[in-house]
Amino acid sequence: VSRCDGVEQGPPIEVFALNRKCTEDSCPNKVNLGVGAYRDEAGKPWVLPVVRKVEKQMAADDTLLHEYLPVLGLEQFSNASVSMLLGQDNPAISEGRAFGVQTLSGTGALRVGAEFLNKHLGYTTFYYSNPTWENHHLVFVNSGFTTPCQYRYWDDKTRSINIEGLLEDLRNAPENAVIILHACAHNPTGIDPTQEQWQKIADIMEERKLFPFFDSAYQGFASGDLDKDAWAVRYFVKRGFELVCAQSYAKNFGLYNERVGNLALVLSNSKPVAAVKSQVTWIVRGMYSNPPAHGARVVATVLNSPQLFDEWKDHIMAMSSRIFEMREALRAELIKLNTPGNWDHIVKQIGMFSYTGLTPRQVEHLIQEHHIYLLRSGRINICGLNTSNVVYVAKAINDAITK
Ligand code: PLP
Repeated sequence: VSRCDGVEQGPPIEVFALNRKCTEDSCPNKVNLGVGAYRDEAGKPWVLPVVRKVEKQMAADDTLLHEYLPVLGLEQFSNASVSMLLGQDNPAISEGRAFGVQTLSGTGALRVGAEFLNKHLGYTTFYYSNPTWENHHLVFVNSGFTTPCQYRYWDDKTRSINIEGLLEDLRNAPENAVIILHACAHNPTGIDPTQEQWQKIADIMEERKLFPFFDSAYQGFASGDLDKDAWAVRYFVKRGFELVCAQSYAKNFGLYNERVGNLALVLSNSKPVAAVKSQVTWIVRGMYSNPPAHGARVVATVLNSPQLFDEWKDHIMAMSSRIFEMREALRAELIKLNTPGNWDHIVKQIGMFSYTGLTPRQVEHLIQEHHIYLLRSGRINICGLNTSNVVYVAKAINDAITK
């Protein structure tokens, strides 16, 4: 008899369960289009050469110790992260009203940020896009938010953004609702608002006194250009919004398991900065006390060295270009096969994901008959494609649709 005998089994996490199923599949043609991680042209995980280089230097450096980091993390890291996000000449930085806190990757930044907004500003309502990254709901509810709401985002018919629905839902949101906005490369749809659409979103958020919580998991990885991918966040800062932004280095540095992230906070003036930092310190203290050093040291070293920074920019360009080429290749193959439907959305979407529009039945067919693993929503990770498997995948999609 155990005290835990009555504990009920929780549901599986779809993306990890799918990954396991794919690993266990012995078919040589299998393709993993599930989990959101970069794969190179050979279908292998890619440790960025600049990361390897810095890690080798670190391994040889006897002055690096395993002492605790401060509760809010490595300052060279969080300062460099805020500069990368806002642009180093951003007045919010020189005015001392923007600062960062090192967190356990993007998820940790969302969690610390949400807990601060709930505990210290009293916010209880949050909005996330329909659809969104599957973890937003859980992280915010676990941070104390009591009222989850969704805003419309995806239009199935046009396979694009439902901007009218989105704006209407924001217009109807209560004052002080926290609105989670994907900074770029929306997960799972791959469709971002245009600059004109962002302006309309900002207008309504200003008018309705809504609070922007940006989630930036793909800066640089999406377009290959760090500034372009940060446009929306910088635009909101320029318009005078107070905001927070969760930054992840999982994808753009390939540091998935090192849990390197930053919570950037931008206030309207510098007066409350010290108090806010002290309260965030207590939140972190009660949650995990202080963050790990390794990944943050790697990222800080790269971001603070002009030469290493240029090497890294070449890597993010290489990743985003390969993704773009695979989008083009998949669309071209589907057109060649005369697959019913319009496939332009595959190349219009950006980032690692494509929301294909495949139905759950077609997804099941791809998994069972063709050993191609993707989420039930029809989301595929384009990084799982390469020149050796894209024809196979296109034929399988054609088969699933025409069957
Ligand atoms: N937010 C979005 C939209 C994501 O897609 C992800 C990862 O897939 C994350 C946050 C957080 O990732 P991590 O905690 O690994 O940085």
